[in-house]
Amino acid sequence: MDKITEYLMQSLPANEARVTELEQTAEKDGVPIMDPLGMNFVMQLIRLTNPGRILEIGTAIGYSALRMLEANPDAQIVTIEKDEERFQQAKRNIKDASKEDHIDIVYGDAIDYLQQVKDSTFDLVLIDAAKGKYQCFFELSAPLLTNGGLILSDNVLFKGYVADSEKQHPNYQVIAEKIRTYNDWLINHPDFTTSIVPIGDGIAISIKGRGKELSYHA
Ligand code: SAM
Repeated sequence: MDKITEYLMQSLPANEARVTELEQTAEKDGVPIMDPLGMNFVMQLIRLTNPGRILEIGTAIGYSALRMLEANPDAQIVTIEKDEERFQQAKRNIKDASKEDHIDIVYGDAIDYLQQVKDSTFDLVLIDAAKGKYQCFFELSAPLLTNGGLILSDNVLFKGYVADSEKQHPNYQVIAEKIRTYNDWLINHPDFTTSIVPIGDGIAISIKGRGKELSYHA
């Protein structure tokens, strides 16, 4: 861990016990969840923008959905998970936190869900699932996003491999190349303005509209 990350980690607010428990469970079971600094940053964006309706692609065990709700307790969240065991675990975690009225977990592939959903709109979308499908997730959720809404893409710097093509790893280089292609596409998207923030594993913030001529409206 570099000095800046170490310093920022120490500056994070103390977690409630249930949050620490979820982080420990994820680590023990090898379930990838958002990096604490990235999570804290997303929560701050939520406090700033107050999104009423949030869509999450990639629930895992419900950690980020619960934390996003913590940042805006009035929000309604739809979160999609295709792994049955994780979906069931997320359901239990959300029930234990008594947040079923605010978090609706959908079991299935986000691509199928997004191709079918017609009458929903969202103010914020968090993409945190299969890295090779980010462009598809983005294209399918963009029409559901209100003008001025945000799409956040997690892991867009992927452990440092995206920025450094010389960094060797048998599997990560392939993923990094896919993310590099996604980032290039995203930065040049005609309807969105994007900024990539090097916090956590790298978060892209894409704002719909704002001075751009939109080809569609939610
Ligand atoms: N957002 C979660 C958190 O921070 O607590 C972590 C999500 S984890 C990085 C990614 C999850 O996305 C995995 O549990 C995986 O099963 C799920 N996933 C991958 N591709 C998916 C898809 N096409 N549709 C729905 N879920 C998907």
